[in-house]
Amino acid sequence: MLTTRPRGTSDILPGEVEKWQYLEQVIRNLCREYGYREIRTPIFEHTELFERGVGEATDIVEKEMYTFKDRGNRSISLRPEGTAAVVRAYLENRLYAGPQPVKLYYLGPMFRYDRPQAGRYRQFHQFGVEALGSHDPALDAEVMAMAMDLYSRLGLREIELHVNSLGCPQCRPVFRERLREFFRERDGVLCRHCRDRLERNPLRILDCKEEGCRGAAQGAPTVLGSLCSPCEDHFRAVLGYLEQLGVPYTVNPYLVRGLDYYNRTAFEVVARDVGAQSSIGGGGRYDGLVEACGGPDVPGIGFASGLERVLLAMERQGISVPSPPGLDVFLVAADEAAREQSLVLVQQLRKSGLAADRDYMGRSLKAQMKFAGKLGVGLVAICGAGELARGAVILRDMRTGIQEEVPLSKLVEEVKLRCTGRKESAPVNGNHAGA
Ligand code: AMP
Repeated sequence: MLTTRPRGTSDILPGEVEKWQYLEQVIRNLCREYGYREIRTPIFEHTELFERGVGEATDIVEKEMYTFKDRGNRSISLRPEGTAAVVRAYLENRLYAGPQPVKLYYLGPMFRYDRPQAGRYRQFHQFGVEALGSHDPALDAEVMAMAMDLYSRLGLREIELHVNSLGCPQCRPVFRERLREFFRERDGVLCRHCRDRLERNPLRILDCKEEGCRGAAQGAPTVLGSLCSPCEDHFRAVLGYLEQLGVPYTVNPYLVRGLDYYNRTAFEVVARDVGAQSSIGGGGRYDGLVEACGGPDVPGIGFASGLERVLLAMERQGISVPSPPGLDVFLVAADEAAREQSLVLVQQLRKSGLAADRDYMGRSLKAQMKFAGKLGVGLVAICGAGELARGAVILRDMRTGIQEEVPLSKLVEEVKLRCTGRKESAPVNGNHAGA
């Protein structure tokens, strides 16, 4: 136990973490360009927020939340998704009183007690955006275009956008009743959960992954056939904007999302290369959520994307990311006196903005050189007694093997000179994404 992490979690180690940093950087640039600003909410919230904000009849709330009592006997849950907390923060901080829409994004870990497999974890990371305060169908199109823009900046191919409309509280009850009638005739083949859902929330049967339920759903009525005219107009407008923006999409009339509060636009982004867990992102409109959480009648739309799945898709498509720069210089000490001086020197280099390191394992000169080679450092500064006595060190270019003595007073300048020369001609990891 002491040396094993909990199931469904991961350690993101150096070598891997650079991909995350790259992805996060692309996301932050994207958000800036689309006018979204970052929000950071707590990792845990009152359980009630998710019960209300995600929906009590959802898998997330029924089966997947990490819920516990804190020492003050309050029911607390680790956040399973981001929207409910953003809406809570929007209300608590009265962001609705300022100019609308409020466009926010978040990046961070989410927690769901689900059966782990490739692309599905108990702690995973999401990037999400929420735009609150506008009914404009252009915003629905913008959010979808933004999601697709992200995947294309990352170099992903064969990414599909599936769109549907879920109607609104005016027209959905009609559809719900038609679905109920349809599934009542087939309730013998439905799984236990779906038989339960039949009365409470029959839309969710369309979302069930059980084979029997999928079979039973063949030929089910679609929500598009029951839309009221304002919902139909909204849906048409959204699709029209997507066309204007040149964003390809497929209308999938059976797409329902796992969360209860969606209305009108619902969408999902699917990648071919991530296996069973092919959904790399999804979102939709949630015009009733703010009010359901005790706030004013404010509409909203958003989407969230799972970062592990995006990285998995990138890996399977052979997309590598630009490697970040490592150390500029490694200090090698030839003897004890030089070792001491190298501690001061390495700090001087760092204070002038260079990335520098030295040995802390008492290695021999030869072993220090070998270690510098393993680190992949391009430049080594060798501090020997003779050179230090002359107020100098030797700079060795690890690629060419060329060595030069430089005065200590010019060390920073000389290292910088060599680093810029090398950085300008450095090859970038081939076939990387063009962001
Ligand atoms: P959802 O909040 O369920 O709409 O999920 C949004 C996105 O988060 C999905 O499209 C996935 O990319 C990702 N996601 C959801 N659940 C998991 C999970 N258990 N493990 C990894 N990624 C997940």
